[in-house]
Amino acid sequence: MKGVPPDMLLLMTGSGIGSVDENFIYNQLGYDKKFIKDANYAAQEDRHLFSLIPTLLQPKSVGDIRLRTSDPLDYPLIDPRYYENEQDVKTMVSGIRLAIKISETKAFKSIGAKMNPNNWNVPGCTQYGKGDKYLECVARSISTTLYHATGTCKMGASTDPSAVVDPQLRVRGVEGLRVVDASIMPEIIAGGPHAPVIMIAEKAADMIRGAKN
Ligand SMILES: Cc1cc2nc3c(=O)[nH]c(=O)nc-3n(C[C@H](O)[C@H](O)[C@H](O)COP(=O)(O)OP(=O)(O)OC[C@H]3O[C@@H](n4cnc5c(N)ncnc54)[C@H](O)[C@@H]3O)c2cc1C
Repeated sequence: MKGVPPDMLLLMTGSGIGSVDENFIYNQLGYDKKFIKDANYAAQEDRHLFSLIPTLLQPKSVGDIRLRTSDPLDYPLIDPRYYENEQDVKTMVSGIRLAIKISETKAFKSIGAKMNPNNWNVPGCTQYGKGDKYLECVARSISTTLYHATGTCKMGASTDPSAVVDPQLRVRGVEGLRVVDASIMPEIIAGGPHAPVIMIAEKAADMIRGAKN
C-alpha cells in the first residue's frame, strides 16, 4: 500500500544453517553446534545452501538497556524483550510462510531449489506438526538479532519526558554534550540503520558548524 513502510524484510544470504561455511553468518548469529546437530542440519552440508531470513522491520516489542553497576566499564544489562508483543509473532510467522511460498515458485523449482526438510526438526517444536504453532515455536526458539539496535537515547521535543536529546541532539540538562548515532532515532526505522546513521552524522556536523552552543 502506498505510503505504508514494510514490516518484513526477507534477507537473502549465500549460506544456510549446516553449510560448511556456516561460520560466515550462523556463528555470528550465535547458533550453537548442539542445535545444528540436534536438528540434523549437518545432513545438508554437501549441498549448496542459501537462506531467506525473515526479519521484523517494525517490531512492536521494545527492549531496554540499564546500567549493571556504577562502574562505567561494566557491561550494561540489555533486555531486547523479543516477541513481548504478540503482533510481532504473527508478522514473523507470515514472513516465514512467505519465504516457504517463494521456495515453492516455478523459478526456484527450475534451479532445483527446495526448502531444507531439517527446518521441520527444530528441537522443542516438533510436537506442533507443520502449522502456525510450529512456526511460532521456531520463531520463539531460534530468532536472533541483525544488530540493528536503535532508540536508546531518543531525540524529541522538550515536552516529551522520554526524550534524552533535543532536535539539535543536545543532551537535555547537560551543557556542551551531544549524542550523534543510531541511539537518537525516536523509533526504529523500517530498513537498515547504517545509511540513516550517516545522514544523522552529516546533519549533526552542519548543526554543530552553525551552532553557537
Ligand atoms: C554484524 C553487523 C552487521 C550489520 N549489517 C548491517 C547492514 O547490512 N545494513 C545496515 O544498514 N546496518 C547494519 N548493521 C547495523 C549498523 O552497523 C549500525 O546500526 C550502525 O553502525 C550504528 O552506528 P553508530 O554510529 O550508532 O554506532 P557504531 O557504528 O557502533 O559506532 C560506535 C563507535 O563508537 C566507538 N566507541 C565505543 N566506545 C567508545 C568510547 N568509550 N570512546 C570512544 N569511542 C568509542 C566504537 O569504536 C565505534 O567506532 C550491522 C551491524 C552489525 C554489528
